[in-house]
Amino acid sequence: MFSAIVPIVALVSRRGSRLMAALLAAGTLGCHGHATTTTATADVAIYATAAQRIAAANLTGEAAYRRVAALADQFGPRMTGSPALERAIVWAHDAFVADGQQNVSLDPVHVPIWQRGKESAEIVTPAPRRLAVLGLGGTVETPPGGLTAEVAVVSSFDELAKLGGAVRGKIVLFNHPFPAGNAGAGYGKSVPYRTEGATRAAAFGAVAALVRSLASASLGAPHTGQMHYGPGPKIPTAALSVEDAALLARLAARGPVTVHLVLEDGSRPDAPSFNVLAELPGRELPDEIVVIGAHIDSWDVGEGAQDDGAGCAIVMESLATLRRLGLVPRRTIRAVLFTSEEEGAQGAKTYAEAHANELARHVAAFETDIGAGTPLGFRIDAAPAAVAEARELVTLLTPLGATVIDEGFSGSDINAMRPAGVPLLGLFSDPTHYFDVHHSVADTLEKIDPAALGRNVAAMATLAYVVADRPTRWPVSPPPPPEHKP
Ligand SMILES: [Zn+2]
Repeated sequence: MFSAIVPIVALVSRRGSRLMAALLAAGTLGCHGHATTTTATADVAIYATAAQRIAAANLTGEAAYRRVAALADQFGPRMTGSPALERAIVWAHDAFVADGQQNVSLDPVHVPIWQRGKESAEIVTPAPRRLAVLGLGGTVETPPGGLTAEVAVVSSFDELAKLGGAVRGKIVLFNHPFPAGNAGAGYGKSVPYRTEGATRAAAFGAVAALVRSLASASLGAPHTGQMHYGPGPKIPTAALSVEDAALLARLAARGPVTVHLVLEDGSRPDAPSFNVLAELPGRELPDEIVVIGAHIDSWDVGEGAQDDGAGCAIVMESLATLRRLGLVPRRTIRAVLFTSEEEGAQGAKTYAEAHANELARHVAAFETDIGAGTPLGFRIDAAPAAVAEARELVTLLTPLGATVIDEGFSGSDINAMRPAGVPLLGLFSDPTHYFDVHHSVADTLEKIDPAALGRNVAAMATLAYVVADRPTRWPVSPPPPPEHKP
């Protein structure tokens, strides 16, 4: 793992000296340019040294790793409504203060609460067998004592529609295999079975819905996640491990299979929580803001190490790196650790509402919420001119290998600022193994490679610094097309 450090050092230093020579030849070193003449191309030269210093400061990733270790080990799972989440929020606040950050505050957020109770699933016929199950966030409970019904297995909504009324009174299992190839795209294609499966099955009279876990690899653990009810009856819904979903599909192909399902889950009264804010105030335009954000809550299984403890560490260490290096940008960089992302992004909605009068002065918002795989670049949701400039600015991240700019949905927390036209950027880390552990008991600290985590810090801190410091700011994003959905 750590052998990767050597080539990066070499790349940083080789690239740095080449750039230094070019800058000296051009006579531009140390010049911060003028608003009227500066372009992204010129900025790449101006900020090369800062990028190099930020990368060098995060080569081992140890400082960021200490942060995610503290969060994962000391607080464990940080479910919305849990004392662990609220303790972690206080820890993050105190850590920002200890780092010397300014305007550190806790913004109140009113969060809806859903809690997991006793859960079980077992095959009744043809032969008793326990199944690995996790209720989906938002599910209603089963009737007292649970329910027992025959299982109807489908692999798509089209297959469900073909069965139609034949699923009445049954448990529908969505046995949709996680697509091979790009894991992020695979997750996007699979997620409707988790979020909409219950509503679609209920429309044909099903009594419960099970979903094959959305997992790119599996060692028997079910993966939970949020679901949403549409109009119509609400039926209980849960995830099965990939292995158990495949087992049910094989058994059902041989003959009738019945399953007993118990989910004592459900909604509880709303409760108070907080977003954590901290700032590196801008030296010239402190009222203009670049947000860097992640979410501090997690599901109630695993430790939320990748999702999104890693993101919190990346955000905290990005701000700490800039402060330590004396890289105080023209505009303010504001770190935001959002609460309650997993269960409906209430922290993000509340931030956008509470700071509505500032959003016109939000120059950009960054988010990191796809684990700590090596950074590949950024997803961007912004005006074409901003996208074009971002493509040039990320050449500063060539030594990190983070030069991809993909247009599209950039993050569920910052997306609350999309209607205000704030340019959005999501740090895109290699998702190859993220969905192996995502929302499962396996999302634990030892999956995180400190050096890759450090490269994520460098990518985030560099681009956020450049966007906050460069003389020009990006145009407001055009309204999203009507079909624009997360
Ligand atoms: Zn997340």
